[in-house]
Amino acid sequence: YLPAEKYEYQAEVSRLMDLIVNSLYSNKEVFLRELISNASDALDKLRFLSVTDAELLKDAVDLDIHIQTDKDNGIITITDSGIGMTRQDLVDCLGTIAQSGTAKFLKALKESKDAGTDSNLIGQFGVGFYSAFLVSDRVVVSTKSPKSDKQYVWEGEANSSSYTIREETDPEKLIPRGTRLTLYLKVCRTVEVDEDPVDAKKDEQDDKAEKKKKTKTVVERYWDWELTNETQPIWLRNPKEVATEEYNEFYKKTFNEYLEPLASSHFTTEGEVEFRSILYVPSIAPTNKDDIVNPKTKNIRLYVKRVFISDDFDGELFPRYLSFVKGVVDSNDLPLNVSREILQESRIVRIMRKRLVRKAFDMILGISMSENRDDYEKFWENFGKYVKLGCIEDRENHKRLAPLLRFFSSQSEEEMISLDEYVENMTPDQKEIYYIAADSVTSARNTPFLEKLLEKNLEVLYLVDPIDEVAIQNLKSYKEKNFVDISKEDLDVGDKNEEKEKEMKQEFGQTCDWIKKRLGDKVASVQISSRLSSSPCVLVSGRFGWSSNMERLMKAQTV
Ligand code: ADP
Ligand code: MG
Repeated sequence: YLPAEKYEYQAEVSRLMDLIVNSLYSNKEVFLRELISNASDALDKLRFLSVTDAELLKDAVDLDIHIQTDKDNGIITITDSGIGMTRQDLVDCLGTIAQSGTAKFLKALKESKDAGTDSNLIGQFGVGFYSAFLVSDRVVVSTKSPKSDKQYVWEGEANSSSYTIREETDPEKLIPRGTRLTLYLKVCRTVEVDEDPVDAKKDEQDDKAEKKKKTKTVVERYWDWELTNETQPIWLRNPKEVATEEYNEFYKKTFNEYLEPLASSHFTTEGEVEFRSILYVPSIAPTNKDDIVNPKTKNIRLYVKRVFISDDFDGELFPRYLSFVKGVVDSNDLPLNVSREILQESRIVRIMRKRLVRKAFDMILGISMSENRDDYEKFWENFGKYVKLGCIEDRENHKRLAPLLRFFSSQSEEEMISLDEYVENMTPDQKEIYYIAADSVTSARNTPFLEKLLEKNLEVLYLVDPIDEVAIQNLKSYKEKNFVDISKEDLDVGDKNEEKEKEMKQEFGQTCDWIKKRLGDKVASVQISSRLSSSPCVLVSGRFGWSSNMERLMKAQTV
């Protein structure tokens, strides 16, 4: 028999525990969600490893979670038959914070304190295992990993900076595999009160009578198990029978999100490859700016025959510009031990990717058609950059991407319009889609290039995001109408009058030559133009040259 060994928590853990016990009062019930999700993770891990090592299951085939409540004594026990923990795991997992979710929580808590907002952070982030101390004085974790032949007991108390680990020696408490968590609840602590002495005497007599009775009756307790969760994962259910709230709940739980998604899509595909999926568009973009170029977001969880396989993808299921889409995908057609190499080469995966991408587009288009214009505005604000990136990177899907674009225009400076709205608003003779790239709506409005077009009531798109122009140039056209940069030299707005031009050339030809001589290499040529109405002159880009906006961009990149 080895005595319990005492360990100190890592400083961050102590700080977190202190916070939990002393300042987070609301949403206490989240502890249950956190602990059950840990138990469920432990089952997933074991299920995953057992695919390649069936031996792991031998001591207990069933993967389940038992929750026991002992109301009289204020004890809750959560037992799972999952992966368990070794002694070292206990030190690493329950004594330190290596885990990003909790670290994020601490950071957010600090920020919200700085900002003076009183938010429900615990409900938003969860603090994992330590949430047990929201409701418990004492927590005991007895656990057996299949990697170890011993079962260990971790024990911690609220308001203590240390915990202990010992070997489980009570044969009645041994489990074949997994983890048993015992919570000794705070609320059930007996409260001592000063009693009236007369009453106390009477009570004493009652007590004695009570005790006599008690010794006579043998109290037998037994546990009756009741199945509390659905045995079917939500994605296997009929979409018609699942409420929006259920989808949103599932999203929040699965992706550790606190905001509802902007949209969701639940579908089954049949034919060549069969799979089921639920996809979501989050309501905010990831805060980490690198995420737009990093497709490794863990946003898609792949299951094979309901067994969780992986969420570690690098563009296999979605192109990087759609990496913000979250969801689950469950296929019966992939092998359970699917590896990264298989994923990258599999024809099945390629077909899945194609379908998933289409469904994602349908879902986003759905938002754009929603009666509530705010929804799409929100989408655009958060994910517009991703759509533009798509125009540059995914030629194949130009037709699906273009209708999603939004721009300000000379006729809509406050509210962004779609290309469809632009086309609808075209004048009868108009054949092209006009745009001007500038660094803001104000500077776009003030450019002399606009004069003639405004006079003729032609709408001009304002491309004010640096990436806009590149995206538009990649699209080339929309509904067979070419995009035309109004700052380029040969702009033709349909009012060429050759006669008049000839006249003008004769009259001002020499003036042009003189100006060109004076400016020398600073300009390529000096020409007479009919495109201005009130400004005397304008600097334009060559037909095949960079627009001034692009030039500015290139300069910014090379400097
Ligand atoms: P997270 O679940 O986000 O990793 P937690 O604080 O909830 O953070 O848990 C910390 C770690 O403790 C887990 O990552 C896991 O390794 C371990 N753990 C917690 N509960 C269990 C359990 N029931 N079985 C096995 N390991 C567990
Ligand atoms: Mg957890």
